[in-house]
Amino acid sequence: MAQERATPPIVIVGGGPVGMMLAMNIAALGVRSLVLNTGIDSRWHPKGSTQNARTMEHYRRLGVAGRVRKVGLPPNHPTDVGYFTALNGRELARLPMESEADKMRRVQAAPVTDQVPEPLFRCNQMYAERELHAYMKTVDLVDSRYGWRCVAVADRGTHVEAEAEHVASGRRETLRCAYLVGADGGQSVVRRTLGIRYSGEVIDEAKANAYGTGATISTHLRAPDLYRRVIKQKRCWQYWIVSGKLRALLTALDGDSEFLFNTRCRSVDDPPDRDFIAQRLHDAIGEDVAVEYIGYWPWTAGQALVANSFGRGRIVLAGDAVHLFTPTGGFGMNTGIDDAANLGWKLAAMVQGWGGPNLLASYEAERRPIAFRNTGHAKRLSGSLADVPTAPEMDDDSEAGTRARAASREVLMGFGEEFASIGVQLGARYDGSPIIAGDGTAPPPDDPAIYQPTSIPGGRAPHAWLADRSSLYDHFGPGFTLLRLPGCRADERALAVSFARRDMPLTVYDVPVPEARDLYQRGLALVRPDQHVAWRGDALPDDCDALLAKVTGW
Ligand SMILES: Cc1cc2nc3c(=O)[nH]c(=O)nc-3n(C[C@H](O)[C@H](O)[C@H](O)COP(=O)(O)OP(=O)(O)OC[C@H]3O[C@@H](n4cnc5c(N)ncnc54)[C@H](O)[C@@H]3O)c2cc1C
Repeated sequence: MAQERATPPIVIVGGGPVGMMLAMNIAALGVRSLVLNTGIDSRWHPKGSTQNARTMEHYRRLGVAGRVRKVGLPPNHPTDVGYFTALNGRELARLPMESEADKMRRVQAAPVTDQVPEPLFRCNQMYAERELHAYMKTVDLVDSRYGWRCVAVADRGTHVEAEAEHVASGRRETLRCAYLVGADGGQSVVRRTLGIRYSGEVIDEAKANAYGTGATISTHLRAPDLYRRVIKQKRCWQYWIVSGKLRALLTALDGDSEFLFNTRCRSVDDPPDRDFIAQRLHDAIGEDVAVEYIGYWPWTAGQALVANSFGRGRIVLAGDAVHLFTPTGGFGMNTGIDDAANLGWKLAAMVQGWGGPNLLASYEAERRPIAFRNTGHAKRLSGSLADVPTAPEMDDDSEAGTRARAASREVLMGFGEEFASIGVQLGARYDGSPIIAGDGTAPPPDDPAIYQPTSIPGGRAPHAWLADRSSLYDHFGPGFTLLRLPGCRADERALAVSFARRDMPLTVYDVPVPEARDLYQRGLALVRPDQHVAWRGDALPDDCDALLAKVTGW
């Protein structure tokens, strides 16, 4: 191996959204990490456009939510989902959705116990990633080397060695660290080095004729005339084209001139050329419009895959490296960012010495079931556009045309479920995890459309607004937080002593919101750094050391 040099204790391979968020979660607890990323900058090709409510909460916790909300679709741009025969043709159906400005007005006036302090935001990943990247570079405890590729990893038992290659020069360095994370996407070198495979539903191209499944060409384009000449008053976030001739999707990116255009193609290994895309785009729009092509990229849509393991020894995997989603519901990146929140504090705890021998294994125990849950929801929601009835006379002014459009509309209006997934977004639970001190209470049912706040250990800590309109979450510490709910007079000192003995961060917060007592149903709740409840009660347990040992994996 080439020359060795001192490295932060944690190396993250992959500086996509998951790798960057992981580094920031680790830094929040005072631990240094190094992010390696093949590209020299954050990605500049659009992928997902949904920063969901849980992701936005994580951004808020790490101080970057405000920055992200400034990019993406402008505040007053409609975020409706519209279905058209062609962009200049008939509107078949429209699922109305709040603009960002309306949403934020609603949040500002929301009741004290409202559960969505950071509503879902329609902002393409490439804009959000640029903000995350710029912010990450200001975080002292994150070293980043973009333009460096990891070419080999090896767990040596007491440490990990990684071989990093400077992409431009080919120069190599050996990095030595305590833990390494593969957040290197669907083609993960780290996962393949460990010999870990995905299981689940792969796409059989021979049968994949449904839209949203199989080989797809994704095109980033600029077309300033679209708004002025074609879209005019019909503004949406997504424009789905459903006709006898074509199924395609045009997504508004900046609300001005940039769009993402997705349509089926024959094969990802033999991607179509510009003429094919131009023809499909012409059919989708219904007329010629000047277009500047920024880039195009083939990918396989419609997968629901989960890795057989989330790591081995000192090497762990997160994000697309362990789960691949069909895009419906927009859960892919968001699930990865939730992985990062779960994993970040555990890795920091291992480096700082307060994480027990079972803590790292709890990451897979808690997150792999969520990967199955979320890929399952995405798959279930992928009601195929291919099944929407169409007819040649759909654009006609005739009675037959009216009938054909009504038949399509009836099916399309049922697609709204995809955009009502607050239960999926906020309802991830770690019941049965070895590091959750459950109290025997049955959790609420896992309903994709409903989130029921509860302090039953394992779930997200319920939210509340304070009188100054700060969020309860703004008062949590970077480590564990003990919440004392109104009316509870329990003395926290024994727990504080146990934390101090282990050199563990604890924040004690007296919640000043009377309504929060009903939400929490107990006087005390111990909340983890990832905002999940680890334990609750009306008085501290007799043995606080034993509680701490449990929740930190000893
Ligand atoms: C069309 C489309 C629509 C989508 N819509 C949504 C949506 O609405 N919401 C949502 O949540 N998700 C969506 N997704 C999924 C989302 O894009 C991914 O889940 C997300 O990007 C995964 O993030 P990641 O950081 O795990 O991996 P990636 O984003 O793939 O990042 C991995 C990074 O690792 C780097 N890398 C790879 N190998 C190496 C190496 N050997 N050494 C160093 N660096 C390496 C890569 O260059 C890359 O920067 C969509 C995906 C697609 C394709």
